[in-house]
Amino acid sequence: MLKQALLEEMSISAAASDFCEKQEEGLREKFQEIDRIAEYNQWKVLDAFQKERIAEMHFETTTGYGYTDPGRDTLERVFARVFHTEDALVRPQIISGTHALATTVFGLLRPGDEILFAVGTPYDTMQGVVGIREEKGSLADYGVTHRIVPLTAAGYPDLMAIREAIGPKTKVVEIQRSKGYDVRHSLSVEEIGEIIAVVKEVRSDIIVMVDNCYGEFVQEIEPSDVGADIVVGSLIKNAGGGLAPIGGYIVGRQDLVELCAIRLTAPGLGKEAGATLGVTKQLYQGLFFAPTVTASAVKTAVFAAAVFKALGYAVLPQPDEKRCDIVEAITLESEQGVLSFCRGVQFAAPVDSFVTPEPWDMPGYGCPIIMAAGSFNSGASIELSADAPIKPPYTVFFQGGLTWSHGKFGVMKALQEMISDGVVSLP
Ligand SMILES: *Cc1c(COP(=O)(O)O)cnc(C)c1O
Repeated sequence: MLKQALLEEMSISAAASDFCEKQEEGLREKFQEIDRIAEYNQWKVLDAFQKERIAEMHFETTTGYGYTDPGRDTLERVFARVFHTEDALVRPQIISGTHALATTVFGLLRPGDEILFAVGTPYDTMQGVVGIREEKGSLADYGVTHRIVPLTAAGYPDLMAIREAIGPKTKVVEIQRSKGYDVRHSLSVEEIGEIIAVVKEVRSDIIVMVDNCYGEFVQEIEPSDVGADIVVGSLIKNAGGGLAPIGGYIVGRQDLVELCAIRLTAPGLGKEAGATLGVTKQLYQGLFFAPTVTASAVKTAVFAAAVFKALGYAVLPQPDEKRCDIVEAITLESEQGVLSFCRGVQFAAPVDSFVTPEPWDMPGYGCPIIMAAGSFNSGASIELSADAPIKPPYTVFFQGGLTWSHGKFGVMKALQEMISDGVVSLP
């Protein structure tokens, strides 16, 4: 068979590929559900493009101040339509998800205010932004305090404790949709809606902000559909569809988006300035691709869950569980397991497939971290990638996959490396 010969050429054994194919057979219904969600989201994005009458002129670009940039302004209206919000800030000047989140919290909070983290300690880089971990120029430096409500022992939002933690100084409540690099359940949009209802019942003027990183287009609704006032994410994750080379978005209430824009540029300038430097078309086309690219990443995560669960490893979420983001956590139980898995992911990449990833002491982490990614856009984790801290229980966080066929190959290659290194044998 052609396929068998090619896989052999690419150093995947027939035993490994047969084992993987068998796991895929059990996922047909799950994949249909993922395709149905992608279909709805594709039409939602298409409708927004059509309502805004997108034409070739919108792909033109600006330099310098960028005072008049219809492509940029219309892209922001498209985002606002997709997320059903009053306004949006979508810019290549937002350098990452962390920058989008920092722009939002610095835009919204003033000295004496408090930010409440409703679902445990936030994502690593946010800890520095807020001053949970000491950093120069953090919110704490500006007299903004924070409070963290831990998850319940079972790892779910603690609604009672959230209600009680809201005080007179609470201005913003932050909800993180994705698990990030914690082994906990990611939140569904419905669960986010329940938290928002509790917060608004205590005080309706509290601003609810959602870190939507890794969550966009995984469900048919977004946090802004269940009452979030402001929703924030990265364009080198789901919402950029693998085509955006840089950027972040902030969508929500018009008055709040304006405060964020003022923070990003300058008081008096706000959304009026900011050249797009030639990337506008990639941002449009990336958003257009985002629903199906996200579906490929979700299929890859589900497939990895099925394959590694069948081998006896702990996986989160389970293969048949409802998906809330694109991340799969796989606990490989040994350092060698993590190293072999990550090498497999790297060797499966279209770019830098010849590179061997090694653990290193990344600043801000308590142990060495290994990162596997051979991506078109540096660090883009909507592209197939794996990261793991080198410490027990040796959990690897696996995400991305621009196409399902590539994601599937990446899982097979990771398994093959583990087999070749003697970490695991097929049942
Ligand atoms: C990726 C991510 C971020 C932001 O990370 P950047 O690398 O700065 O884009 C924030 N929160 C969560 C939950 C994330 O997954």
